[in-house]
Amino acid sequence: MVRLPMVPELLRQLFKRPATNAFPARYLPPSVTEFLARVAKGEAAINPPVPVPPRFRGKISYDRESCIGCQLCLKVCPAHAIEFLPATKRIRISVAQCVFCSQCNDICPKDCLHMTPEFLLACEDRFAESQIVE
Ligand code: SF4
Ligand code: SF4
Repeated sequence: MVRLPMVPELLRQLFKRPATNAFPARYLPPSVTEFLARVAKGEAAINPPVPVPPRFRGKISYDRESCIGCQLCLKVCPAHAIEFLPATKRIRISVAQCVFCSQCNDICPKDCLHMTPEFLLACEDRFAESQIVE
């Protein structure tokens, strides 16, 4: 008798929800730049990405009101993505430098840092408003 050990896995994969999908459009547009310009005008819609899994580590968020300026987050950040602002005793995080390790979140005594599900972070300007969290 011929054994087909791959069949159960094949069937499982056939009906499994995909881990990725075509993004930003279901079918590749002639020009992605033009497509995104049409999205900005409301003439086209982005094919939404699949939902991120629980505890996904995306763009960092910062609650500056709860921050006490202890600078522990600076000490553990392996990417030197966090800057201390002495005038306000608060911090500024460079999203372009962050490697999403979450160590600052773990050490913060006031729980003011969190990793959000936001992952669409590509930007040509590392100093753009969207790339700075403060
Ligand atoms: S998540 Fe990691 S790399 Fe990003 S700011 Fe926090 S400690 Fe630095
Ligand atoms: S560890 Fe938390 S409380 Fe301390 S400076 Fe960083 S964000 Fe503020």
